[in-house]
Amino acid sequence: MLLDCHNHSRHSFDGKETVPDICQTAEALGLSYFALTDHCDMVGGFTGEFLRKAIGSSTGELIAYRESHQTRCQLLCGMELGDPLDNLTLAEEMLSLYPYDVVIGSVHTDGQEDYYFGDYRTMPQAALEKSLDEYFKRILRMVEWGKFDVLAHLTYPLRYVVGDAGRKIDLALYQDTIDNIFQTVIEKGLVLEVNVSGLRQSIKETLPGKELLKRYYALGGRLVTLGSDAHRCEDIGVGIDEGEKLLQEVGFTDLCWFSERKLRKIPLSTSLLGKNPV
Ligand SMILES: [Zn+2]
Ligand SMILES: [Zn+2]
Repeated sequence: MLLDCHNHSRHSFDGKETVPDICQTAEALGLSYFALTDHCDMVGGFTGEFLRKAIGSSTGELIAYRESHQTRCQLLCGMELGDPLDNLTLAEEMLSLYPYDVVIGSVHTDGQEDYYFGDYRTMPQAALEKSLDEYFKRILRMVEWGKFDVLAHLTYPLRYVVGDAGRKIDLALYQDTIDNIFQTVIEKGLVLEVNVSGLRQSIKETLPGKELLKRYYALGGRLVTLGSDAHRCEDIGVGIDEGEKLLQEVGFTDLCWFSERKLRKIPLSTSLLGKNPV
């Protein structure tokens, strides 16, 4: 297991763990690189004051831990910037406020509420497909803006729509938009995240899954990273080994991580040795 670049602490509305506990867990697992990426959502009613405090605490505590402990694991501070185009002024202010190593860009809504809060068991199929159409268009607009490093969980709604509600969704309906997203990610040098949280949730696949990863690769995409999206210490690193194996099957040779928002790579083959580089 090489790295885990998407994690949350109690400075996220849905997280509980303290930053020192998280850092200790990352070190104990033998990860080479670990990023703390608390939520900074531009939807959901969070005020600028709330977000400045939350992200200031998250990044500040991570940096304080890093400065006061010698760790083999490189601890990286970041944030998950959610639905940035819904409040571009605040999003850009948040980008300028703290010395991030990495910024993850994500979309959690179709412009209404976070899929996390929805119940999709009885929604008419047409409404569901329309919601997902809007979701992927929002991702496309976000990557065209592109002021972040990593595109998070491309197929996030499927966690709830397919995994929890058991609905069938034909992703071919959105292939043109998804291809546009991939092409824009590639042109801008952004990194595609393979979010392995789905492996421990009811959907039982990574976000995005193998077919979309093959499509990204076929279009020329080579920059990928892995994240567990852990909100509890026990989930840190879970599924990362499986994610590494999946990426190698598709043909990827490196994993990306960021330091001071500069792209770095580590060969995936390093993990085949059964131990991480010191
Ligand atoms: Zn997210
Ligand atoms: Zn997350």
